[in-house]
Amino acid sequence: MKLFIYLYYFLLLFSWSFAGVQQEIKMIGSNNSVLGTIEYIKEQRYYFSLNDFSSALLKKNFINKDVQKIVFSLGNVKIKVTGNISFIIIDDKPYQLKNNIIYKKGIFYAPIDDFLDLLNEKTGSSYVMDYSSLSIQNKFISQEVSTNPVDLYQEKKKWKFDTIIIDPGHGGKDPGAVGYRGTKEKDIVLDVSKRLARKIERNSKTKVILTREEDIFLRLQDRTKFANANEGDLFISIHTNAAEDRRASGFETFLIGPNKNEAAVRVAARENAALELEGFSGKKLTNEDLIKATIAQSAFAAKSEEFASLVQNEIKKRVQSKDRGVKQAGFYVLMGASMPNVLIELGFISNPNEEKKLNSSSYRDMLATSIYYAVLKYQKSFDD
Ligand SMILES: [Zn+2]
Repeated sequence: MKLFIYLYYFLLLFSWSFAGVQQEIKMIGSNNSVLGTIEYIKEQRYYFSLNDFSSALLKKNFINKDVQKIVFSLGNVKIKVTGNISFIIIDDKPYQLKNNIIYKKGIFYAPIDDFLDLLNEKTGSSYVMDYSSLSIQNKFISQEVSTNPVDLYQEKKKWKFDTIIIDPGHGGKDPGAVGYRGTKEKDIVLDVSKRLARKIERNSKTKVILTREEDIFLRLQDRTKFANANEGDLFISIHTNAAEDRRASGFETFLIGPNKNEAAVRVAARENAALELEGFSGKKLTNEDLIKATIAQSAFAAKSEEFASLVQNEIKKRVQSKDRGVKQAGFYVLMGASMPNVLIELGFISNPNEEKKLNSSSYRDMLATSIYYAVLKYQKSFDD
């Protein structure tokens, strides 16, 4: 698919820019003993290898390359880091670094100062990077850090597919698209989301969390933040479409990606309009922002795409509506998700005929059933 050629090209550029300075720093323990050396890279900032840092301290860490995660503990504090995003989890709470973690060839690089500041604040330690001697030392704690290894089995279990975040679009003061007969997108998508949640919960052990269960307004960025904080394994944002041309009809599933198709851009612009209701006066999403967001999601792009085509296939099997396929565009609500994610447009509420269908509970249930089967099939790919 074109997205991947695009991605590959930018990842190539990305890795070129890091080909430059690569050196080592020393990890100094008590009695000035060298605990180990840590690889670091210097771009505009200094980044150090968390793989080396954690093994110098503890000789133990747990890495899952498939989902780009590294886990280690410092004293009693557990630290979880994911590649290519700026959030890290310390004792199950998410914190944001000023810069992304860089993941490259199995190594997790953290921005040194950012990372140590946060670590010191949350663990009570006092790691200091000394740039003149190129060493890191824990200034105030004389004894070695007590080794309290992470429960690796528990960690492994957490990486199984077990939590789905369903995001009914819009809500509260934001009705979303409004149909010819006054049907509101926010109501249709909440109903389909709840039906989908019930089907998954009834028939599997998968945990389902909805970003909203009532008619309330939620900021776009809070939806993905919520999904990340709950450590979702799949994020499904559910919407209905609208177009000026009342004849437009059908269902489509979107992935985040640089804008390339005009119709897709219009859908994204309409879905991003909630930003204005949030009082968002900042700059608009540029294509550069989108490329960055796409790169940040490269770890799960293939999984997102896999789920997107399952959704299209399952809906196509069950409802009489036009299959508009899988597309990509700059959806703000998908930016920053640290898990596979899609945005489903169930149909055009602006098309009187489709609006009528969306108003029927059996049609909505069929849509929910379709997505449910897509989830089942997607989940199976994890069990193999
Ligand atoms: Zn919408």
